[in-house]
Amino acid sequence: MSSPSLDELINALTCLPGVGQKSAQRMALHLLERDRGGGQRLAQGLLQALDRVGHCERCRNFSDTDICEICEDASRDESLLCVVESPADVIALESAHAYRGRYFVMLGKLSPLDGLGPEQLGLDRLESLLEEGKIKEIILATSATVEGDITANYIADLADNHEISSSRLARGIPVGGELEFVDSGTLSRAIAGRQQINPPD
Ligand code: ZN
Repeated sequence: MSSPSLDELINALTCLPGVGQKSAQRMALHLLERDRGGGQRLAQGLLQALDRVGHCERCRNFSDTDICEICEDASRDESLLCVVESPADVIALESAHAYRGRYFVMLGKLSPLDGLGPEQLGLDRLESLLEEGKIKEIILATSATVEGDITANYIADLADNHEISSSRLARGIPVGGELEFVDSGTLSRAIAGRQQINPPD
């Protein structure tokens, strides 16, 4: 290659999911040939996000502030807590406009083989939220996979210990499917038709 900088850019772009050498080359050439302004915005957006985006101290979702906007929003129902695997799930549920409670984002699911235990998923933090006594129901929106089921059962037991009822999203979510790929209508029906796991005593 005639330009080491171009080489470096192409290699850097291959860190994106689904982007191989060929696509990376096309992107890099596009930015340099046709859209240097877009390239500037991309570079600034990337640096800014990497610098400012952290995790909410309550729900672990991505946030620019210590406590995220959803956790700060007093109009949301603090008695409902929806436990999801990733920030993408929060985005999917928010765009379905079918849920007005709060969230807890595990950033994964229980998977001992990958070194993901309760501690990595922040479940100790989840327990301190449960101990505050404001949450009345936990909605488990874990994926319909073996690990998703194990995680849901684990959290349902935690909830039960605190005498909090828990429910799981109704069927209609494809097996192994991630929430972000489920359409809003299906998601709304899955929330409305959620099924209780541990009814309160
Ligand atoms: Zn939050």
